[in-house]
Amino acid sequence: MKASVDQDICIGSGNCEATCPEVFEVRDGKSHVKVKTVPENHEDKVREAVDGCPVQAISAS
Ligand code: SF4
Repeated sequence: MKASVDQDICIGSGNCEATCPEVFEVRDGKSHVKVKTVPENHEDKVREAVDGCPVQAISAS
């Protein structure tokens, strides 16, 4: 799985980082994906982060 955040949409709420800090990091008011490939043991958390983003800025597949 790869994850990405649309920087134009992200409002920096921090939900994704709270859900999966191993993958997401909020810097300067925007979330950034820290890994090239999401480790398998974090895929469920990333899906949770996708669902929990208030502005649907996260894609993962
Ligand atoms: S949950 Fe969505 S809006 Fe909030 S920081 Fe993460 S990507 Fe940005």
